[in-house]
Amino acid sequence: MKTILINNPLCVATMDDAGTEFSGGHILIEDDKIRSIGPEPLDILADQIIDGSDMVITPGFINTHHHLYQTLTRNIPLMQNQPLFSWLTNHYEVWRELTTEAVSVSTQTGLLELMKSGVTTSSDHLYLFPSQASPELIDTEIIAARELGIRFQPTRGSMSLGRTKGGLPPDDVVQSETVIQEDTERLLAKYHDDSYGAMTRISLAPCSPFSVTIELMKQTAEFARTNGLHIHTHLAETLDEEAFCLESFGLRPVALMEELSWLSSNAWYAHAVHLNDEEILRMGESQVGISHCPSSNMRLGSGIARIRELLDAKVKVSLGVDGSASNDSGDMLLEMRNAMLLSRLRDERFWLTARDVLRMATRGGAAVLGRNDVGELSAGKQADLALFKMSGLSQAGGMSDPLASLIFTTRNQPVDYLIVQGEVLINQGISNIEEQTLISSHNRIAAEMIKHAETRTGINFMKTER
Ligand code: ZN
Repeated sequence: MKTILINNPLCVATMDDAGTEFSGGHILIEDDKIRSIGPEPLDILADQIIDGSDMVITPGFINTHHHLYQTLTRNIPLMQNQPLFSWLTNHYEVWRELTTEAVSVSTQTGLLELMKSGVTTSSDHLYLFPSQASPELIDTEIIAARELGIRFQPTRGSMSLGRTKGGLPPDDVVQSETVIQEDTERLLAKYHDDSYGAMTRISLAPCSPFSVTIELMKQTAEFARTNGLHIHTHLAETLDEEAFCLESFGLRPVALMEELSWLSSNAWYAHAVHLNDEEILRMGESQVGISHCPSSNMRLGSGIARIRELLDAKVKVSLGVDGSASNDSGDMLLEMRNAMLLSRLRDERFWLTARDVLRMATRGGAAVLGRNDVGELSAGKQADLALFKMSGLSQAGGMSDPLASLIFTTRNQPVDYLIVQGEVLINQGISNIEEQTLISSHNRIAAEMIKHAETRTGINFMKTER
């Protein structure tokens, strides 16, 4: 049995139902679980002892929406100032160049970046399967994630509506319903684990109303219901999408989901920005989840999601950094801070607090992904923790409330310790990955993809439009 004892923490946010916080005391980890936790000191020997006296300790954060491959296409000049549909159409041309190596390297870069900001569980939404890459790209991601040791809940993403059928993506990155279904069943048999403490769990994720067929949406919902799986897609992100749904189906996005049997407690939606009062209530009654992606919504000018009303309606609300082509960063603390600050551009009644966004990034994430083993520091839960030293320049003067300081003061240093399933993956700020090698490979692949896309299309990606 392996033990880790964290002594005398400055502040622990358990994120239990009562929202218990305490200072001093201990957290004892035995193998993969928290054995005991509380404000009373514990004087025992352990394999590793961590002095927590200058640290805020939270449950590891849970990121519920990402497109890890997009870390290869951050900040491309042509798409820097474009809204969703033109941003997508241009990015498809670069994403068509994805290779198996590109998926492996970008998965590790994106996940390591998340881990450094305190994330211990992440989902991913990979929906693009270009013909030159292996069709087994989800396998590639899972293998890359396992090397890092993070808890991973990838989705089997999909697109089936190419341009010639009225969709937005080029035909050569979409797949047929049969291929998608067969690959889904193969992946589930090989990797899916729905037990307590699972490190790999698979959900299903058709991409969006403008890139998949109605048949695929229906088929996915039915298959997930029969097999006890979670389902995920983009919804109500922009007004363009709303117009597309009204024109193509005569329905607003939420009504379309209802029609397709997608308004259910095993579904979670990225964005959910453009919702009316009735739709918010309907989503609450259906106990759906959402992944709020404030940085991406600001970057693409999509709008401000109505998070306070969604929380009041009992919708499960979590946070996602979204893909790095529309965030350009994969920092969960920054995402929490942006969620809090963005809410304050609205009427004061709708403001979010630091503790609101911390809860969204922990318990909210666990609820959305259908997990009761993470997102909370209590005896018996999985030992997934983020430890942040609060003695840096940027926290100086902000220590009257150390927990809120995590969100209010900006941080320019990574997490000090990250523990996943009882394993210390980041120790005193250092990961066990050759970071410089990873970054060099990543930059090489990113440059090659743009160059190949320019040669093929004649588009100049290096020029901004404004
Ligand atoms: Zn997305």
